[in-house]
Amino acid sequence: MNIHKIIAIRQLTEHTFILQMERRNMPFLTGQFITIRRPGTIDQREYTVYSGEKDDVMEVLVREVNYGKVTPRLKKLKPGDQVEVDGPFGFFRFQPNMFPVQDFLFVATGTGISPFHSFVRTYPNLNYRLVHGVRYGNECYDHEHFEKERITLCTTGDQNGHFNGRVTDYLASQEINPETQCFLCGNSEMIQQAFDILSGKGVPVQNIYTEVYF
Ligand SMILES: Cc1cc2nc3c(=O)[nH]c(=O)nc-3n(C[C@H](O)[C@H](O)[C@H](O)COP(=O)(O)OP(=O)(O)OC[C@H]3O[C@@H](n4cnc5c(N)ncnc54)[C@H](O)[C@@H]3O)c2cc1C
Repeated sequence: MNIHKIIAIRQLTEHTFILQMERRNMPFLTGQFITIRRPGTIDQREYTVYSGEKDDVMEVLVREVNYGKVTPRLKKLKPGDQVEVDGPFGFFRFQPNMFPVQDFLFVATGTGISPFHSFVRTYPNLNYRLVHGVRYGNECYDHEHFEKERITLCTTGDQNGHFNGRVTDYLASQEINPETQCFLCGNSEMIQQAFDILSGKGVPVQNIYTEVYF
């Protein structure tokens, strides 16, 4: 566990924010997560690193969960406060050179966009498509950090995205090159359904990588 000072909190929506903290030279591979806890408390939670491998600071994207044990308190942190950070952990790592075909599909629900933000920040010239599912169109967290024509925002609660419906409905309607490397991150229901849809379209299971948040 290392103590990292909070540098800034950037509110993206009423319930979602970026926590920016000191990096303190912590190494990580894009796609990995860290654990965060407030000093003097026992509850720690996992957060995928949102910033890029070469950034001087470390960022995570957090959604405040109603009645959650940890996130309402993280939301109240101020610049100068400290958090205990451990890691990095996890196998949802992304090293594009490993893939013979440079064709990537990133599928996220909610804050599951975080690893993809880090992938694209770390490797700016990727050939990717990002499908992001949220309830409302205003939850398009930092979409301006991605190339506009590569993103599809799927909304279930309003018509302010590119596609009205779940990411899985969108995926089901798309042609997918079976050689695409597919990365899925977010809630388990989406991941299970997207996995079935992609493998049903001929994507081999070894080309599908998953990170379940809850
Ligand atoms: C590998 C990994 C990486 C993660 N990365 C992130 C991340 O980058 N950003 C992030 O916000 N969360 C992330 N999470 C979830 C995070 O660790 C916590 O579970 C979440 O912040 C809730 O903590 P809490 O104590 O406030 O809620 P708790 O009191 O622990 O309540 C948990 C309940 O909240 C709901 N929940 C959990 N996460 C979310 C979410 N993101 N959106 C909506 N509902 C949720 C679930 O129903 C869950 O049962 C990740 C989880 C894992 C396993």
